[in-house]
Amino acid sequence: INMFWQPINNLSNFYNQITTNIAGAERIFEILDTKPEIEDEKGVVDLPDIKGEVTFDHVTFGYDEEKVLDDVSFVIKPGETIAIVGPTGAGKSTIINLISRFYDANEGRVLLDGYDVKDVSIESLRKQVGTMTQENFIFSGTVKDNIRYGKLDATDEEIIEAAKAVNAHEFIIKLDKGYDTELLERGGGLSIGQKQILALARTMVSKPKILILDEATSSIDTKTELIVQKGIDKLLSGRTSFVIAHRLSTIKRADRIFVVDNGKIIEEGNHRQLLEKKGAYYNLYMAQFNI
Ligand code: ADP
Repeated sequence: INMFWQPINNLSNFYNQITTNIAGAERIFEILDTKPEIEDEKGVVDLPDIKGEVTFDHVTFGYDEEKVLDDVSFVIKPGETIAIVGPTGAGKSTIINLISRFYDANEGRVLLDGYDVKDVSIESLRKQVGTMTQENFIFSGTVKDNIRYGKLDATDEEIIEAAKAVNAHEFIIKLDKGYDTELLERGGGLSIGQKQILALARTMVSKPKILILDEATSSIDTKTELIVQKGIDKLLSGRTSFVIAHRLSTIKRADRIFVVDNGKIIEEGNHRQLLEKKGAYYNLYMAQFNI
């Protein structure tokens, strides 16, 4: 597969992977015996149904004294797909961490449809912001349970519908007991591709208004890769999406690409525009693909 910036699987990635889910997050935090650092402010309201506009208004942030994001501003229209690219440590994951409010900006504001993320309850926020990460957390339980984890009150019909939408249904019904097949912790017994497809179904059932995707880079065979890619396309369509992108195909299809370096968005535009610009993106593309 053609990859932009091969990622390094570090601890912060792992942290992102497990802070993945919505209603089920608490369960995982229990397992790891850690807690999300952010709590609801006093007097928060539930975030109403949003269209999916995302605004960064002069956002500056650091995990400690060191600035990791430096005065970042942008407005994303509902339905836009944004690919975020840049070297390891540039601040890509940090941008998405602030959207799901795993951390708070030190300066500036993060707004969803105009609502400051600090003014709404975290639970209501994360119901509408779905995160899918590189290695998805599969727990021991049935296939059905693992998908339902995206929306705890989903009916069986909703689960099957979501699975069909991302082409997970076909492999699931071939398993020993179909949707009732028991899976092992971390998905032992499933291939990497199957785990990814299952994760797509889980995200699909939660129908997030804003989707955050940390694109998988594990090598899977071309056929599975195509199935995963199609599933991702389904997920992206009709919702605001941020993809920390490694696949050239995803990057090319994005409405806008943000090239992040050293805590700043140094270039933005679509693939064609950025190539024409002959700047950082162009140089990287040439170096990587040598065309
Ligand atoms: P990217 O996603 O582009 O690889 P990150 O947003 O993960 O970059 O990281 C940006 C910077 O913030 C890096 O220097 C990284 O070491 C640091 N960082 C990331 N997560 C944490 C954390 N939880 N605590 C402290 N520093 C962090």
